[in-house]
Amino acid sequence: MFPLCLYCLFANFTSAMENRPPIIVVLGHVDHGKTTLLDHIRAKYTEKARPVAEREAGGITQSIGAYEIVRNKEKITFIDTPGHEAFSLMRMCGTEIADIAILLVAADDGVNKQTKEALECITKTNTPYVVAINKVDLPGANVEKTKNDLAQAGVYIEGQGGNISWQEISAKTGQGVEELLDLLSLASQVEELKYDPKAVTEGFVITSKQDARRGIQVGVVAQNGTLTSGSYICTPTTKGKIRSLENFLGESVKELEPSAPALISGWSEIPHPGEIFVSCADEENAQKTIDQTEKKKTLTHNLKTEQGENIINVILKADEAGSLEALRGLIAKLTATEKQLHVIDEGVGNIIENDVKTAVNSKAVVVGFRSKVEKAAENIARGQNIHIHVSDVIYELEKKLKHHLKEALRKPIGVLEVLAVFGERKGKEQIVGGKVVEGKVVNQSSFEIHREDEKIGEGKIQNLQSKKEDIQEVEEEKECGLLSESDIPIAAGQKLLFFE
Ligand code: GDP
Repeated sequence: MFPLCLYCLFANFTSAMENRPPIIVVLGHVDHGKTTLLDHIRAKYTEKARPVAEREAGGITQSIGAYEIVRNKEKITFIDTPGHEAFSLMRMCGTEIADIAILLVAADDGVNKQTKEALECITKTNTPYVVAINKVDLPGANVEKTKNDLAQAGVYIEGQGGNISWQEISAKTGQGVEELLDLLSLASQVEELKYDPKAVTEGFVITSKQDARRGIQVGVVAQNGTLTSGSYICTPTTKGKIRSLENFLGESVKELEPSAPALISGWSEIPHPGEIFVSCADEENAQKTIDQTEKKKTLTHNLKTEQGENIINVILKADEAGSLEALRGLIAKLTATEKQLHVIDEGVGNIIENDVKTAVNSKAVVVGFRSKVEKAAENIARGQNIHIHVSDVIYELEKKLKHHLKEALRKPIGVLEVLAVFGERKGKEQIVGGKVVEGKVVNQSSFEIHREDEKIGEGKIQNLQSKKEDIQEVEEEKECGLLSESDIPIAAGQKLLFFE
């Protein structure tokens, strides 16, 4: 079984214990400077590093990475966790993995929503932490207000009646960052972090990704034992034999000690970020361990399709398990307020033909976070009028989905059933006769052309007549004639829907 408390094991092996470096996580509100701080430290201490912020679409941290520095002959591992609320699941996994957290607050903004969420994570997992008050170089920085905000949120720092260490910093200029690293060193000495090199290797999955060329790539950080190339490992849901083991710089290594970020290939299936992994004696043993643990949760499970006026079925796709987790978080957030999104299928990879076919059958919308749309899928979607919303930025996806919901759920103020069309269509103009079957129809208003509940075109009324007289409005149950302008020809049997 997977031990819930990794440290429980240590009690049995005290004789062979060795020190291990601290694993640090930076938490805080979006835009408060987490990525900038991580970049600054990385750039200073790691020659080969490239700034994460430059590589990220949308400029927010969107996937968990990890790196290691050596400072005053001491190693420190940093885990990079996202700040967006859709990543709450992954952020939770950040504090579970970390030995010490940095709670970062921008001095020009103070404690914000995600600062409080981060604090909840820290409290729930009982993670020791230090506070970094960032952006002190800005003219609008107000350190005193930030300290008061922190106290109000229950964070009592040193000098304010509490014992939480803190440091003013500027992640941009580097001011105070060395002092912050000193605080982390001190905090990790207090924690006395140990490991047993001969024990079963245990740790956490941080990232998991299906790479077209290299297969399943999994980022892990171990906390006990020694990661060894060629050995068997498993999580509660999948297993593997370490085919290649790389350190965070992408260098191939035979062994890695705990706390060092590692990239492992050789998995049979993609594990979930946040899962615990352990080393196993052989493949049979790995399978047994999986069987003993909770029923396997697969990434793609078919949930029942929901039908109903206010229900919108969605199919979720993402480039990797972590992103899918984030996408689920976004849907959960939108559902909490709107109650209309229902996930019928989900998976990792590109948006393919099959996804769109499922969407056609269940009248669903396909949502892709960092997923590409394959050509065949795009063609079917266009022909079948299936909406595909994709973006590499979770905020944009949120915006698109909100807009989609607004559009899809708005009610028409009037519906006209087309009974006949008169004469030839001249350019875009046509004379249409119909009956108002719902609400009212107003002159000069725009409409959508629908065939069997599906929007097929758009148009506008140029002139409205009843009994051969120009009028401004026609009520329900009344017949009328209209001179229309539309992008496609209008035909009898179709409906014209009018919106506010
Ligand atoms: P994250 O969302 O918490 O990772 O925030 P980022 O690191 O992406 O920073 C958000 C913005 O704040 C970026 O434009 C940074 O350049 C800026 N920023 C971060 N730290 C500082 C700082 O100490 N001083 C100033 N002036 N700007 C900062």
